Amino acid sequence: MALRASAARVKSNRSYTIEEAAETVGVTQQTVRSWIKQGLPAMTDQRPFLIIGLALKDFMKETHQKRKQPLSIGEFFCVRCKVPRKAAAGMVFYSPLSGSHGRLEALCAVCEGVCQRTVRAEDLRHWTPFCRIDGSTDRNAYRNPSTSPEIITSGQEGRHAEIQRG
Ligand SMILES: [Zn+2]
Repeated sequence: MALRASAARVKSNRSYTIEEAAETVGVTQQTVRSWIKQGLPAMTDQRPFLIIGLALKDFMKETHQKRKQPLSIGEFFCVRCKVPRKAAAGMVFYSPLSGSHGRLEALCAVCEGVCQRTVRAEDLRHWTPFCRIDGSTDRNAYRNPSTSPEIITSGQEGRHAEIQRG
């Protein structure tokens, strides 16, 4: 979903068809239908279905609060705490998944559960002020599955410097 849902444009005192609601908040009609299935109150005993603006606003506020918040640099979504958390001791481990993306792994600073998130390789440099990155930051390392992270780690000081300069 490239569009960002926004409840701000919804008028509380008017009713919306699925089509209108989708357009107003910036989601697909399919999304609005799935919201109705998830409990968004709608007048479904008539066609077209009508959704009261106020109900739509409330539903979006609620689901937004339940949904995971966008993560900042240096943050992981902890599945145990169910909130974004910082990495324990600021230590993260990076493993490349492709030439452009990789997986960052860390322990939750609060519960010490394992947290993961996928990041773009080029964004790693933004992490260096917040975290110590271990593992392979070599974009090409993924092409060689026999290269273990431990081996790469031993030569990473130079790569650290490289990232910080970038
Ligand atoms: Zn946690």
